[in-house]
Amino acid sequence: MILPPLRYLRPGSVGDAVHWLTHIDGAIVLAGGQTLVNALKLDLVAPTALVDIHRLDELRSIAVSPDRTLTIGAATTYAALAASTDVRLTAPSVASMAAGLVDRQVRNRGTIGGNVCLNDPTNNFPPLLVALGARFTVLGPEGTRTIDADDFFVGTMTTALGNGELLVSIEIPPLPRGARLVHRHLQVGADSWAMARAVVRIDDDNGVVVASRVVVGAVLGSPQRLRLVERALVGLPTGGDLDGAAAEAFDRESIETVGDVHCSADYRRQMSKVQLRRALRDLAKGTPS
Ligand SMILES: Cc1cc2nc3c(=O)[nH]c(=O)nc-3n(C[C@H](O)[C@H](O)[C@H](O)COP(=O)(O)OP(=O)(O)OC[C@H]3O[C@@H](n4cnc5c(N)ncnc54)[C@H](O)[C@@H]3O)c2cc1C
Repeated sequence: MILPPLRYLRPGSVGDAVHWLTHIDGAIVLAGGQTLVNALKLDLVAPTALVDIHRLDELRSIAVSPDRTLTIGAATTYAALAASTDVRLTAPSVASMAAGLVDRQVRNRGTIGGNVCLNDPTNNFPPLLVALGARFTVLGPEGTRTIDADDFFVGTMTTALGNGELLVSIEIPPLPRGARLVHRHLQVGADSWAMARAVVRIDDDNGVVVASRVVVGAVLGSPQRLRLVERALVGLPTGGDLDGAAAEAFDRESIETVGDVHCSADYRRQMSKVQLRRALRDLAKGTPS
């Protein structure tokens, strides 16, 4: 379908971008365009103007601070994440997630900021960033604010971003010593969307789980933290039956799933549990993500 007429704006700075987003009614951000352009063609969105941020260098940087916090500019592409030595060394799960995402074309254009701002339940990064305890820096008409990943993802395709706000960067704190993280997912096809996704992180202190984050994706309002599973894991020996404890707690979680052309809601729920158990088995074997 031919796109309807609309303004295309290329800001020279992050400040200009926020100015246009705030003052032009119906203006929205264009990042990699991998979802947005398709949505425009299908008439699913009808903005009056596109504010193209993908060439802003200030949004494409990757930096590691002395305390090993990784800061990623919102317009950093998946390909840049996968190729970055800094990302591979400080947050290997982010590099591997980016490297395995879809196909080369999407990896070369799609951005981590677009991935999280869209918050499509099937998207790869929201559950991972919740498990990593990431923080999002946002610039808007009222200035800058920081939002924890737990609060950023509000519901299916909805985030905490307000009118005129632009996601500027994502900060990933270093994992505590002894922490391990594994992600697992079930894809529709080799280079396609996930039907179920689980990310498991356990923080190990002297052979005991002292904290955990268990997040599922591809479910309603995803990413969803499974607090009952997290509580069931804490206090167990890391070499113990984490899989059994998690499986039992999973059945008590109220996770809402939906059916679609790929599978039923019930199948998706069952597959979420399977991904969780596989992730825990990977953790037990020491398989890296
Ligand atoms: C064939 C195909 C298969 C795909 N499969 C997968 C998959 O398996 N897993 C997966 O995770 N993704 C998948 N995607 C989606 C892809 O990852 C997109 O790149 C991503 O969803 C959006 O990123 P983008 O940079 O292209 O953003 P855009 O499409 O440009 O924007 C997406 C949305 O985010 C908003 N936005 C973008 N950046 C910002 C910002 N900095 N601040 C505020 N708002 C912003 C835009 O206004 C828009 O609403 C697939 C895409 C295609 C075409």
